[in-house]
Amino acid sequence: MNQRDTAVFDLITQEKHRQKSGLELIASENFVSPAVLEAAGSVLTNKYAEGLPAKRYYGGCEVVDEIENLAIERVKELFGASWANVQPHAGAQANAAVMLGVLQAGDKILGFDLSHGGHLTHGSPVNFSGKLYQSSFYGVEQETGVINYDKVEATAQKEKPKLLICGASAYSRDWDYERLRAIADQVGALLLADISHPSGLIAKGLLNDPLQYCHIVTTTTHKTLRGPRGGLIMMGKDFENPFGLKTKKGVLRKMSSILDSAVFPGTQGGPLEHIIAAKAVAFGEALTDDYKDYVVQVKKNAQVMANDFVEKGYGVISNGTDNHLMLIDLRSKNLTGKEAENTLIKADITINKNMVPFDTQSPFVTSGMRLGTAAVTTRGLLENDMLWIVEMVDKVLMNIENEKVITEVRKEVNQRMSDLPLFTK
Ligand SMILES: *Cc1c(COP(=O)(O)O)cnc(C)c1O
Repeated sequence: MNQRDTAVFDLITQEKHRQKSGLELIASENFVSPAVLEAAGSVLTNKYAEGLPAKRYYGGCEVVDEIENLAIERVKELFGASWANVQPHAGAQANAAVMLGVLQAGDKILGFDLSHGGHLTHGSPVNFSGKLYQSSFYGVEQETGVINYDKVEATAQKEKPKLLICGASAYSRDWDYERLRAIADQVGALLLADISHPSGLIAKGLLNDPLQYCHIVTTTTHKTLRGPRGGLIMMGKDFENPFGLKTKKGVLRKMSSILDSAVFPGTQGGPLEHIIAAKAVAFGEALTDDYKDYVVQVKKNAQVMANDFVEKGYGVISNGTDNHLMLIDLRSKNLTGKEAENTLIKADITINKNMVPFDTQSPFVTSGMRLGTAAVTTRGLLENDMLWIVEMVDKVLMNIENEKVITEVRKEVNQRMSDLPLFTK
């Protein structure tokens, strides 16, 4: 069987071409380094390693133990964490492990509203988190697009959740973790920060540090962190589970032990050691000064892009950004998110439609679009290029019926992007 499976590999070649020649503005995507790709595609995929390093249920784990330990040590150094589990297959699995580990079915959780930029796994009724737990939500203010922490406090007082969740998929402002911890303490809740989106910027000190205040922190590894598709759980400090889960000897269990067993055997089987190796490589890269330069540029690029959209009359929620993304309300341009997404893709510009706070459209149509600069910055684009990107996006959106203009933009995009490597530094 050494004949090449052309059906699949031709499609992979097509996808590579798509990634290389298009303008990738989806805020949750990025391009990994050749080293991360190599580790993810390695023979480690052959290995079963249920359990943790030195505590496995399979033989032959000596090498993968060292790899997983490297990933853990590197990520602890990167975020200043005292404990980490690098096995969650994705962000959703990291959150599932945390909730199934610390909560009982029927417990109350309080998260950031999905329609204001939150994530499905923070209590949405279509997700396990909304089916298994009683969820309630806080959101942003309609006038400012920013979270009002007094209102979060009032909702927490009223709902008395056991878990308060912060973090989002489409919120462009920083979070006040210190205030949220004070609120969690008042009502006896645990505080979970899901930093899936801005984790790379947090790691390099460009945003507030959640590890200092939040009991538990989860993140994906494939967004701004620029690693393989995956998840992870961390704690700044370990602590005894306050909700009374005791060991057989009658002592309160440490949260690290609860979370480790919530990942395996609680919610997953064998860890993906090839992906864990790729995570270790990505964490190694993220520890470098080159990566610091990268995230600084990501943030600068996002600010330039958001300001330019504001100047062109687009409704940027909260009028700007502190991180790598922005949420744009298209109602002032008489467009829906669906129209924007479907038209921009014709010019090989990829964005995603997104609900905006207080949206009047359904989630399938939406009034907004979300854009991020993590991927285009990896490709080497700088502030001036952001002005060009806004020009291209605006040209398409102002001419959605004009195939000629859209084709011109596509040619310009393909010309500019095809010459750039997928990964610069
Ligand atoms: C992306 C994201 C997730 C989920 O990550 P997956 O890897 O797609 O499961 C969870 N939480 C937030 C806030 C996210 O943005």
